[in-house]
Amino acid sequence: MTLELKDKALFRTQAFISGQWVDADSGDTFSVTDPATGEHLADVASVGANETRRAIAAAQIAMSEWKVLPAKERSDVLEKWYDLIIESTEDLAVIMTAEQGKPLAESRGEIAYGASFIKWFAEEGKRIYGDIIPTPQMDRRGVVVKQPIGVVAAITPWNFPNAMITRKAGPALAVGCAIVLKPAAETPLSALALVELANRAGMPAGLLNVLPGMDAPAIGGEMTSNPTVKKVTFTGSTPVGKLLMKQCADTVKRTSMELGGNAPVIIFDDADLDLAVAGALTAKYRNSGQTCICANRLLVQDGIHDAFVERFSAAVRAFKIGNGFDESTTHGPVITEKAAKEIDEKVKNAIEEGATVVVGGQPGEQGDCFYQPTVLTNVNSSMRVFREEIFGPVAPVFKFSTEAEAVQMANDTEFGLAAYVYTENMGRSWRVSEAIDYGMVGVNETAISSEVIPFGGVKESGQGREGSKYGLDDYLETKYICFGAL
Ligand code: ADP
Repeated sequence: MTLELKDKALFRTQAFISGQWVDADSGDTFSVTDPATGEHLADVASVGANETRRAIAAAQIAMSEWKVLPAKERSDVLEKWYDLIIESTEDLAVIMTAEQGKPLAESRGEIAYGASFIKWFAEEGKRIYGDIIPTPQMDRRGVVVKQPIGVVAAITPWNFPNAMITRKAGPALAVGCAIVLKPAAETPLSALALVELANRAGMPAGLLNVLPGMDAPAIGGEMTSNPTVKKVTFTGSTPVGKLLMKQCADTVKRTSMELGGNAPVIIFDDADLDLAVAGALTAKYRNSGQTCICANRLLVQDGIHDAFVERFSAAVRAFKIGNGFDESTTHGPVITEKAAKEIDEKVKNAIEEGATVVVGGQPGEQGDCFYQPTVLTNVNSSMRVFREEIFGPVAPVFKFSTEAEAVQMANDTEFGLAAYVYTENMGRSWRVSEAIDYGMVGVNETAISSEVIPFGGVKESGQGREGSKYGLDDYLETKYICFGAL
């Protein structure tokens, strides 16, 4: 399948190392396909440990000049990159929908969202302040300066093929680091198009290297063991995050981990029902349920439960599932046939244990990667849909009676990324927000993410924050200098 791009040079299939487009040493490639149709899109270079090592070496050289530039000069390059991304929105969105499946309107939204991190950190990178500390001894002063941590390795997932990269590359480059990036094998084309634009924006060679590949353990193994890499930033599944943290221990690398979630949407009897239905729909079904802050469990108080299920289900029945290029499609496929099967297994487990299917409950007829938007009731906490991240368009609706029970259910998970609370009671909104163990809480709102807020989780959902002024800290070291004999 040939994509209709205005700017055909954005369609890149080689790795980008030290400012050069290169094939894998082995000549190996892997195939990228459209999940909506199964059509072949590209054969992309599949690099391994050797290319990764070269990219890391190039990054270190490039960083030595980049980190000593005034922040304004780094900012200028990032601003230019931002402008080029915005100008190329349509082409980038087409590439994304083709390889990821999300509706074109969602892809356009992600390009704007992704670009916002570049602009934000271009600005924020000029504001890296230190401290002067009065010491116990009057002849000394303590000074704290912030310095770039070093070469950064980033590993990113397929659900946001653009924004998960810019959230890491933006702050890393803004503070003076260089980066080696491994995009997900399902969606490398979006990453390669982004780096093509960075190159045009005048990003010095070696600062931003992209390493597509099928052999993730080989690339990740080099990234986590190479002593030149000082920081590994990862967005993906909790098991892989844990593995990378273990691998990083040998060389004591800093890590940022944005891992799985199991987000509750807690809807109290005193909620605005329309608002709660609209919020839960977005939180559950955006990107066909494939975001780490997607609602995983709808916890609804018994007095409002039936009314909620009725309105929520009616809205879900009206969804139009299909190819993301069809403008009438509201929801696209899931990423792979394997993902669709795993979602189906979780639904089957719930049904076997007594769940009622209100809507959907089956694989979609549109193709191998589709799953019907599904609503389940009569679910309980022993089912897989309560315990595990569903990562698909399936909404299990659990019932609770008291505020204490809602808090207990919300916290009954090893995850702690995002949670949502719907109530019109001011006191309750504070009490519950503070009582639940999550890195982010939306009160009467599920569209909580932007470049200005600290995104990240607690417990096994990860560590570190992306976006906002806090997002810079993940790429900075704190150095204390003592000035004596004053
Ligand atoms: P998902 O199941 O959603 O694909 P993963 O955690 O498997 O989530 O994938 C997220 C990213 O981590 C992808 O870029 C993937 O290639 C990469 N990855 C998977 N396994 C490893 C590994 N052992 N080492 C390094 N990266 C890995």
